[in-house]
Amino acid sequence: MTVTVSKEEIEKQKAFIYKIKQRCKRFAVSHGRSPLALTETYGCQQNENDTERIRGILEECGFEFTGDANAADIVIYNTCAVRENAEQKVFGRLGILKHIKEARPEMIIGLCGCMVQQAHITERIREKYSHVDLIFGTHALHKLPELLCGVLDGGNKIVDIQDSDGFIAEGLPVKRSDKSKAWVSIMYGCNNFCTYCIVPYVRGRERSRRREDIIGEIKGLAADGVTEVTLLGQNVNSYGKDIYEDYDFSELLKAVNEIEGLRRIRFVTSHPKDFSDKLIDTMAECKKVCRQLHLPFQAGSDRVLREMNRGYTKEEYLDKIRRLKARIPDIALSTDVIVGFPTETDEDFLETLDVLEKVRFDNIFSFIYSRREGTPAAKLDFVLSDEDIHRNFDRLLEIQNRISKEKNLVFEGQVVDVLVDGVSKTDKNMLSGRMENTKIVNFPGPKSLCGRYVRVRVTEAHTWSLNGVLADEGIAED
Ligand code: SF4
Repeated sequence: MTVTVSKEEIEKQKAFIYKIKQRCKRFAVSHGRSPLALTETYGCQQNENDTERIRGILEECGFEFTGDANAADIVIYNTCAVRENAEQKVFGRLGILKHIKEARPEMIIGLCGCMVQQAHITERIREKYSHVDLIFGTHALHKLPELLCGVLDGGNKIVDIQDSDGFIAEGLPVKRSDKSKAWVSIMYGCNNFCTYCIVPYVRGRERSRRREDIIGEIKGLAADGVTEVTLLGQNVNSYGKDIYEDYDFSELLKAVNEIEGLRRIRFVTSHPKDFSDKLIDTMAECKKVCRQLHLPFQAGSDRVLREMNRGYTKEEYLDKIRRLKARIPDIALSTDVIVGFPTETDEDFLETLDVLEKVRFDNIFSFIYSRREGTPAAKLDFVLSDEDIHRNFDRLLEIQNRISKEKNLVFEGQVVDVLVDGVSKTDKNMLSGRMENTKIVNFPGPKSLCGRYVRVRVTEAHTWSLNGVLADEGIAED
């Protein structure tokens, strides 16, 4: 059952924000500067979206932001539990912060997100990382002002890890990282229990936001100049099932498509078992919905899919892709693939390669299976050796790199519309942006184009991006 955080509770948190604000003002007077906060995010867009809320709360409290841990008065790491290496990174960071805090004991260190929603991790932090002041789980984000007040009032280590199916909190402040693009969570949690995945255990059961809250938020974003929104959920295809009888994700997409000022609508993540013909039709009919889809297939072998509890077969997945391509021929496709699920054999892996060749994704996100304590797959024995799994992984990348390059080559010579994100991360002399189909395009141009739509002539295709030059038509503002 969906539990919405009450207005009274949100008002209570605002009172704590006011209290912290007074402290921040006193700090500014005594130090000649505002207190500084550093936030770091691990994992998915959902976490990025949560961090925007954390930053919104901190800004409302009177903090300014820094990227330098040595200068920060408060550090909050929003963690991910999906793969082990993300957890190891956080522990490594905490080791570095220990030394900084020894020199500046007043520094506050907070950990939140999926990683700390696991009991064995919280225990480890309590025992070995005593310099962490504040630990709060995914369900307690809305209580950050109260928890932070507790730390500032000299409380001992504060831990708020609620064991519940989670809440929905409306009306929290948000500090967005981009002026033209925004993520909008439409639902939280997951009911699917794929056997390798920790998410349902750390994010709780599926709970949808009310449609009027979502539409209201997006209208506000559009009024502020946002032109691209990405609707977020672990499985957006089951949006609304928990609160409405006759209103589903397709209906929501149609409503968002009507919002004036928006130009691009994206959504992640779709689950193949729930991806319907109705949604295919809606995507085809709604002009602002991007001709692009991320549809994770994870593995090609029916036996492995069964053991993963994915709820579809390889043929059912391929059939949905065929129907989608028939309706939207230029759709760009991406997917997630896991290599080395414990019981996967070399024969199973060949089925995965077969899906790559048959679908010809534009892009894939491939991962070597990561064992997650508490999930059913963690009890399974491995069939393949580490060496075999890495060999298969390299083979998968090699095949996908070829396909990605072939698909990018098609764009050479074409003029395409690009929403400019900013300066390219790999070449400071270039701007970088994305086409409707999410392909990255790099081109020389003035920074004043950031946040705008421009027309770019593609001159060169690479495996993961395209290079180009501004086309004569220049700006593509509708
Ligand atoms: S659908 Fe499966 S993989 Fe995705 S979040 Fe839910 S359990 Fe995890």
